[in-house]
Parts: sequence; C-alpha cells; structure tokens
Amino acid sequence: MQSYPVAHIDLIALKHNLARVRHFAPNSKVMSVVKANAYGHGMVDIARALENSDAFCVARLSEALQLRDAGIQQAIVILEGVNTTAELQVAAENDLSLVFNSLIQIQLATVTTLSKPLKFCWIMIETGMHRLGVQADKIDIALQNVARSDNFIDPVGLMSHFANADLIGDTRNQQQLTRLKQCAQKYEVPLSMANSAGILAFPESHCDWVRPGIMLYGSSPFSEKSARSLYLKSVMRLSASIISIQNLQAGDEVGYGGDWTAEKATRVGVVSIGYGDGYPRQLSNEGTVMMEGKVIPILGRISMDMITVDLTLVAGAKVGSEVLLWGGSYVHIDNIAEQIDTISYELLSQINERVSREYHHGEG
Ligand SMILES: *Cc1c(COP(=O)(O)O)cnc(C)c1O
Repeated sequence: MQSYPVAHIDLIALKHNLARVRHFAPNSKVMSVVKANAYGHGMVDIARALENSDAFCVARLSEALQLRDAGIQQAIVILEGVNTTAELQVAAENDLSLVFNSLIQIQLATVTTLSKPLKFCWIMIETGMHRLGVQADKIDIALQNVARSDNFIDPVGLMSHFANADLIGDTRNQQQLTRLKQCAQKYEVPLSMANSAGILAFPESHCDWVRPGIMLYGSSPFSEKSARSLYLKSVMRLSASIISIQNLQAGDEVGYGGDWTAEKATRVGVVSIGYGDGYPRQLSNEGTVMMEGKVIPILGRISMDMITVDLTLVAGAKVGSEVLLWGGSYVHIDNIAEQIDTISYELLSQINERVSREYHHGEG
C-alpha cells in the first residue's frame, strides 16, 4: 500500500497529445516545452518519453543542464537565455541553445570568446507582451551583430510570444504575428510564434517551429473549449490515500480554525496530501475528491500534509483506500482550476518533489 501521494503519469496519453500537436501543425517542427519540471510531471522522464520532439524548451540554464546530463540528445532551448560570461560558456560547452531577450544578452554572446560555437539560437522579438524581447526596430542591428560573430553555427531564428492566445480570434494575436513577420521579411531565418493556444486555434501562427506546453499534458489553454473537445488526454492522475478515520458527533469541528462543523454524526477520512505537496489550499471547504467513483466533499481547511473528506457516501472506505484528487476520466484538472480561479498550469507545476511520480504506459 502506498500511503503517500502519487502522481501517476500516463506516457501513452503524453505521446497521444504530441501526436495532436503534429495533427494541428503538420508542417512545423516541434519544440516541446518541459520547463518547471515538465509542468510538474517530471522533466527528464517526460523528455525521454517525448523522444519524437524535434527540440526541447526550458526556462533556465539549470533545467537545460539537467536534461543534457540525463543524455537528452536534441537541441535544448533556454527561453530566458543567460546573463553572465560563465553561464554562456557552460551553455556552449553543453551544446545548449539560447534565446536572446535583449541587446545586452546578444552583445554578451557576440563579444565573448567561446570554446565552442552556439547552435540553434533565437532572438525573442517584443511584439506586444512587454515582458522579454528585443524591440522590433533593433532587430536589424541585432542580426547584423550576430552575422559578424563566429560564435553561431546555425542561422539565428526569430521568435515571439502571444500575450492573449487563449482568447480565440482576439485581434491582438493577429497584430503580434504581423509584427513578427514584418521583422522577418528581409531574412531567411526560422520563425516561431505558437504556444499551445496558437497551435490549436491560430494555424497562421504555426510558422517553422511550434512550442507546445500545456496541451502536451492534456489541459486546454482555453476557458471556452474543453480538453476533451480538443481530444487531449490528461497525463497526470493525482492520488493519495486515507490514513485515518474519525467518527464525529454533531457539533464537532474539523481542522485548523474549526472551519467545518458536523451537523450530525459524520464519518471523516484524513487523506495524505496537503498544500506542502502543492495541493491548493484554496480548495479548503470548497473542493471535492473522488472515491470509488463518487464525488465527495473536502471538509475544513487544507493542512500542510493532510486534508479531511466526508466519507458518508463511501461506506466501504477504510485506512489505505485510494483517494483521487484529479485525473482519470472524471475529475478534470481544468475544472478544479476554474473552480478556484486559476489555471491548470499553476496547479500542475506546483506539485512538488514530495509527491512521488510513477510512470505508466496507459492509465496507472
Ligand atoms: C511556457 C512557454 C510556452 C508554452 O506555452 P503553453 O501555453 O504551455 O503551450 C511557449 N513559449 C514560451 C516562450 C513559453 O514561455
């Protein structure tokens, strides 16, 4: 019996979702986004399972090194780039690819003498997000500097990132894409724009390389369209188990602050997962879990290591019984995220190393 929480990861569902990327963007190459521990799914195992990706994207150098050290062979693109000479050398030595988000990052890469040239690098263009990126009117200078340097072996591509791709048909998406294409007009270089939402709903944005994240893990980037309607399959099934049972009398309070009070005699199960595992505390007194196919309410506040649930509907529940937090066919994480006014990206990436991950081929 496994009494601690487990994230069961379905690698067949993951591969199915990558096939969905190829279905939607058949003429583009795919950089699978595995930043933030592959959205909580375990970065190295996910990258290995996504061996059909043409490249991978991470946010930071440390993540890229973890993949390279694990023997991942494909190009690994560091979305935030690097900011010091030492980091730049490490990136070059490990065949890592950089996104340059400012003229300063480009200058660092052109003036430093590197032991090995950089492969498959990108310049991020500011097209409307106003987060990272080189201003569109500086792209000519940026590309000239790159062309003069011996530090690059492949043509440096141009990419940008949608601020509103989850809003299908929003005119700002077209504007951002137009700005990217205008910058690229004079150059024969690879282009990349689309995240999951762009892949699914804006074919014109596919360009040479797409960058799927959330859709690989089986969630929808849209509030208006369900994952099921897009034929995406949930990859993570999060479970824990009953570690204790309490028989309460009317008037008894449960947990910190006594935020839930029994109105009648109630059988309460204590479940081995809490916010210390990354389970969201906002589900206190609001959320539900599943046991034996039944939806049952969470009672009182979520603690660091535990939650308490109402066992009224599951007479057979005992210590060791499995509790499903999300995943499987019934409790879609997108619905839980919506219930507490957040997105599945946050819920998934918060599941931390205290939760063991088990990899299955099929639903585990
Ligand atoms: C995280 C990220 C992605 C993936 O976005 P999804 O919405 O998860 O598909 C793509 N591009 C960049 C630059 C990112 O930071």
